Amino acid sequence: MKRKPFIGGNWKMNYSPSESKKIAEEIRDKNIDIIDKDVVLFPPFTSLYTLKLILEDSPISLGAQNMHWEEKGAYTGEISGLFLKDLGCRYVIVGHSERRRFFAETDDMINKKLLKAFELGLTPVLCIGESLNEKEDGRTFDVLRQQFRLGTLGLKENPENLIIAYEPVWAIGTGKAASPEIANAVNAFIRDQVEYKFGVEVAESMRIIYGGSVNSSNAPEFMKQSEVDGLLVGSASLSPEEFTKIVRYSDYLKNKEEE
Ligand code: PEP
Repeated sequence: MKRKPFIGGNWKMNYSPSESKKIAEEIRDKNIDIIDKDVVLFPPFTSLYTLKLILEDSPISLGAQNMHWEEKGAYTGEISGLFLKDLGCRYVIVGHSERRRFFAETDDMINKKLLKAFELGLTPVLCIGESLNEKEDGRTFDVLRQQFRLGTLGLKENPENLIIAYEPVWAIGTGKAASPEIANAVNAFIRDQVEYKFGVEVAESMRIIYGGSVNSSNAPEFMKQSEVDGLLVGSASLSPEEFTKIVRYSDYLKNKEEE
């Protein structure tokens, strides 16, 4: 089955609103042809409105890096998914390893965020991935199984809309990406878990992407893998040139075929 490629740029805590304006304008002005893929930028909360205005007539969508599981109330410093919807966000990242690691987010919290995102009509991008220690202890598959199962507890309606990002913690921000073959094999394992839980049809249509030190040189190789349906890009998405090249990975693959 052909799944629509998904390319996300996670800016993390980079770019003030005025810097974001400049960068988003540069990306917009590159007029990337993205009819055949979903391209999404995840700027800091404080830049969402700026990007909404700049990208309004562009095919690039908007996502948030996090959300709270309650819709409103006494949760100082938190952001509701309702506000994100109101701002025009279509996607939200849940369970990024930096949230798990630096902000003590548990699988239970991540699960509540994921269910609320679904309820509000936001598409969650659920990040799962093992640390270096877990990898070295041979626990990669156990960790992924656990994070997937706990993260999706109670998910019943339209689970195929979920996007899962395999993001090995040891590959994030380190310049040491997983090999495309490893990413493919791990994504195949995740798809088996999806099939076990949700059935074969859901497994065949769900997008399972890869993230961790992706750049414009390795992106085409990842995208050539049958089980890699897209990319979540951190540092390389901060550069409009790099990000645009990554989004255009298919041109690179086409040129290679013609050579
Ligand atoms: C990320 O944080 O989601 C990520 C993939 O980061 P980087 O591309 O910088 O490794």
